[in-house]
Amino acid sequence: MFITATKKSPEELNAFLNGSRGPAGYFRDVSGSQLKITFDVFPWMVSDNMTYLRDKEPNYYFFNTQLGDWSVDKVIHAKDVLRSAVADFGVDLTSYDADNNKVLEGLVVVYEGKSGMLAGSNMSWTNNTYNSKFRRPNLDNVATLDDSTDPNFRAFKSQHILFRRYNNIPEQWSENYPGKLIHAGTWAHEIGHLLLGYRNYYYNPGDLGDYAFSAHSGDPNPFHPAALEKWLFVHWIEQKTIESSSAFQSGDVYVYSSNTFHVKISNISAPDYQVSFTLNKSTLY
Ligand SMILES: [Zn+2]
Repeated sequence: MFITATKKSPEELNAFLNGSRGPAGYFRDVSGSQLKITFDVFPWMVSDNMTYLRDKEPNYYFFNTQLGDWSVDKVIHAKDVLRSAVADFGVDLTSYDADNNKVLEGLVVVYEGKSGMLAGSNMSWTNNTYNSKFRRPNLDNVATLDDSTDPNFRAFKSQHILFRRYNNIPEQWSENYPGKLIHAGTWAHEIGHLLLGYRNYYYNPGDLGDYAFSAHSGDPNPFHPAALEKWLFVHWIEQKTIESSSAFQSGDVYVYSSNTFHVKISNISAPDYQVSFTLNKSTLY
C-alpha cells in the first residue's frame, strides 16, 4: 500500500518554490534579479482520475535489460502528464512562453514520495529523437500526440507550443525526512539544467569542484554559481580580462585588485605571461 499521509499540499509546495528560501528566491538573488521564475503549482494528479495518466505499473515501469534494473518510461509519462494537464485541469501551455519562441519555458513533474519512487531527480526529454537534416532535436506539441479521433483533439490543437525538456523531481528527499520537501539545492540544480542549459560538472576531468553550482546538487542551501557559470551559461556578468606585463619571481604570486579577489599563481617560469580569467566576489565564499 502506498502511504500518502505525508503528502504535501500544492499550497505548501507553492509557498516553498516561490518563497525566498526556494528556487525562485535563489535564482533571483544569484542573478541580481536577471532571472525571475514564477512557479504555478497544480493539484496532485491521481492516476485513476486523469484522462491520460495510467497506473504506474505496468504502464510506466519496465525492466530495462541494458541497465539490468527497473526503469520508468519517462517519455510516455511526461506526455501523459501534459495531456492530462490540458484536458483535466484546463492548463493553457501557451502562457508559459516568456520569450515568445513558441517553446514551453519549463515543466516540472513532481511525483509523490521520495527520490527513486518514480523517475529520479533529473532533466529529461519528452522526445529522444534528433533531426539530422536540420541538426536539432525533434520537439512535440500536444496536438501531435493524438489523432483527430481523440475527444480532446480540439483542445490540443489550440496549444501552439512545443516542448521537449523538463524536470522530474520527487516530493521528498528520503524516508529519513518524511513529509519534508526535497532540498532547495536539488530544485535549483535541476532547474539550472532546464533553464541555464549546463551539464553535470562533477565528473573528471570536467569537475568544477566546490566553486561551481553545476557541480553540486542536494544541498539544503544551494551553492552560489561561480562567476564562470554566470558568464558562460547565462551572461549575467561580463567576462573580465586581467593582463599584466610585470615580471614576477617564480613561486607563489598573489594578484590583488580592489580587494575584491585574489588569485594564487604557482610555478611561474616564463618572464612574461598573461592571465585571463573571470571571477567575482561570490567565488570566495
Ligand atoms: Zn545534474
